[in-house]
Amino acid sequence: MNVYNHILVAVDLSAAADQVLTKACKIAQLNHARLSLLHVVEYLPPIDYINDSLMDINWVTEEKVMLDHAKDTIQQFGKKHKLENVALEVELGTPKHEISRFVETHRCDLVVLGSHGRHGLSMLLGSTANAVLHEMPCDILTVKIEK
Ligand code: AMP
Repeated sequence: MNVYNHILVAVDLSAAADQVLTKACKIAQLNHARLSLLHVVEYLPPIDYINDSLMDINWVTEEKVMLDHAKDTIQQFGKKHKLENVALEVELGTPKHEISRFVETHRCDLVVLGSHGRHGLSMLLGSTANAVLHEMPCDILTVKIEK
């Protein structure tokens, strides 16, 4: 019996992302589930130039550059892991909100993420894992990251 139909794996593209993806792929395979991979570009635009219209233009350009760069990086990540039939998605925002949004829009029934990543090395659970824990309408698997 398949327990999950659509699994979302959230990756921060740090070294730990390999471990998270490997587990997610195995679970997707065992469940014959669809797998989507999401990376969120966390970009905080400068806030001291609110009245400067030129700055607004640069801000939009910068966002586009960062998104394009992330799209290239995620394609390389997909190639490195020889991913087939995996949707590679990039969004701009905060991981917590974008992961929630993706899960709701695409009706995922499992989210796989690392216990730690770039924000949370010293905590029991990384900040993203913690943040999504009580928010998700579906199951969550946090992969214990081996050092
Ligand atoms: P952290 O909150 O940095 O400790 O990260 C914990 C886990 O949340 C990571 O291992 C990823 O699975 C996920 N995560 C963190 N940041 C992002 C991001 N920018 N995009 C997608 N997933 C992320």
